[in-house]
Amino acid sequence: MHAERLQRVRTAMADQGVDVLLVSVGADLPWLTGYEAMPLEWLTMLVVPRDGNATLVVPRLEAPRVVEQPDVFALAPFEETTDPIELVARLAGSVSVAAISDRTWARFVVDLQDAMPNAAWRRGSTVTGPLRAVKDAAEVAALRRAAEAADRVAAQLQGGQIPLVGRTEADVSADIGRRLVAEGHQRVNFAIVASGPNAASPHHEADERVIEAGDVVLCDFGGTMAADGGAGYCSDITRCVVAGGRDAPGDVADAYAVLHEAQAAAVAAALVGTPCEDVDAAARRIIDAAGYGQRFFHRTGHGIGVEEHEDPYVVAGNATPLVPGHAFSVEPGIYTAGAWGLRLEDIVVASADGPDPLNRADHALVTVDA
Ligand code: ZN
Ligand code: ZN
Ligand code: ZN
Repeated sequence: MHAERLQRVRTAMADQGVDVLLVSVGADLPWLTGYEAMPLEWLTMLVVPRDGNATLVVPRLEAPRVVEQPDVFALAPFEETTDPIELVARLAGSVSVAAISDRTWARFVVDLQDAMPNAAWRRGSTVTGPLRAVKDAAEVAALRRAAEAADRVAAQLQGGQIPLVGRTEADVSADIGRRLVAEGHQRVNFAIVASGPNAASPHHEADERVIEAGDVVLCDFGGTMAADGGAGYCSDITRCVVAGGRDAPGDVADAYAVLHEAQAAAVAAALVGTPCEDVDAAARRIIDAAGYGQRFFHRTGHGIGVEEHEDPYVVAGNATPLVPGHAFSVEPGIYTAGAWGLRLEDIVVASADGPDPLNRADHALVTVDA
């Protein structure tokens, strides 16, 4: 698996004229090697010369965590007294174009630029982004398992099994996080719980607001689930419920009907060959026509895989045509400042047989007795 991915990376490097790819902390590393580095102050770096052998440079104390794969990379642990920048520069050799992974600490980028003065620099994602965006069958299966686990938590929310009224958003968020882990996730990446007017901020951080009966509560949560090969895969789902057995206020119910139609239209538009921006437009057209255009002020979706946000982005200006294996969220929203917010999100995979939505939890604005 990793040897095959590395081969595809080398082909992309050749196509783009990149002489060496330098991969530090972030999702490229586990995708390529199965090893997930902690974001430490020591340098971790996979050095991939286009034509030579790959080497994983790690601090000695981290080396025991690496599962060695001699057919993929050599392991080069360094001592506290060694300068890893000099080591990486030596392994890279004389290069004119270097690509470096997007989440590398700036301190290492600056030092490497000094140590390799003849290199022109590119973002690593120009090489790895388009490759990681297209999932193989095992990756789609891993995303599906994560989505099914998130769906089970969504069903608990919609079934009234997660108490809401009288609890703080922060309490409910922690509860959802525990349930994500109980359903098989290795870790929780986020659990947004935004009630009443707080939901008008799309990335509201769950706080001490106490949920009241009649509040619309927006819950957007996801985690990472372990998979074969060492890299975990992410879930991400949003559902809204009305707390305390009350019906949704009329203006909210009207907006939700539009949102639901827009989300379904965008999913249906996600056909192989369709540009990503057309999927965004499919949702936006319906929300605009209903007069809510100004209240839908973010992109329709993002790719998902080892990282919760990655290529391809479902946004105006991204003309990338969908291919089988592209996995992304479809999550339009409508927000009314000071009053309420609504969003509906599923993960969808483009396939030759049409759009494959991985999330199946009820799409309705469910009233819960909780
Ligand atoms: Zn989400
Ligand atoms: Zn999302
Ligand atoms: Zn639906």
